[in-house]
Amino acid sequence: DLKEIDTLVTVAIQAAGAAGLPQASGLADDLFHSDGQITKRPIRALTLSALSPCPGQLLWDIGGGSGSISVEWCLAARGARAITFEPREDRLTNIRANAEKFGIAHRMTPVIGKAPAVLDGIELPNTVFIGGGGSQMLLDHLWNILPEGTRIVANGVTLETETLLMTAHKTRGGHLLKAEIAEAAPLGSMYGWDRARPVIQWSVTR
Ligand code: SAH
Repeated sequence: DLKEIDTLVTVAIQAAGAAGLPQASGLADDLFHSDGQITKRPIRALTLSALSPCPGQLLWDIGGGSGSISVEWCLAARGARAITFEPREDRLTNIRANAEKFGIAHRMTPVIGKAPAVLDGIELPNTVFIGGGGSQMLLDHLWNILPEGTRIVANGVTLETETLLMTAHKTRGGHLLKAEIAEAAPLGSMYGWDRARPVIQWSVTR
């Protein structure tokens, strides 16, 4: 509604300066309150593309961290909502602050706790993102409770999560992406490539 659009525009201008908030996913990291545990901008953009938000859809964001994925999900599509699961109270504070800052607190619900236990009794989503807490137990649990057609996207940086996601791809299908990104950074008086750890991303439709 108009009130929401007004709020969004006002907040966008406060958040990003006179030009307003960019319309593409993959906003600058420093627009978000975080303790450094945040999916970095280029990977966040790839992740939002894989999540494919549509108007009115509900996301479960498991391992919410700063809530940046939930925020961009809500910004990307009219009426999109997110439930953000995070066990750490200090990070929930950041998640709430980011929901307020971007004017979408009414569409984002932070929930404290660890997946899979915390998922019990929660409204079922259209799409699930796993950014933390990935395990065989969690994947099996999701497979049991989610209806066919639900989209799942999981990111991993550790060898353990990579193994988990490669096995999941083999047994359940879907799509595997490996993103290896480097950014130019000062090296003495010149520049060199600062490599980020590779991110493995598994996307599948249940
Ligand atoms: N996508 C987030 C960053 C995720 S960091 C962002 O952009 O900000 C991974 C997060 O997963 C951490 O905050 C960690 O506390 C959380 N986590 C770890 N195990 C979890 C579990 N079992 N359930 C839910 N969250 C978990």
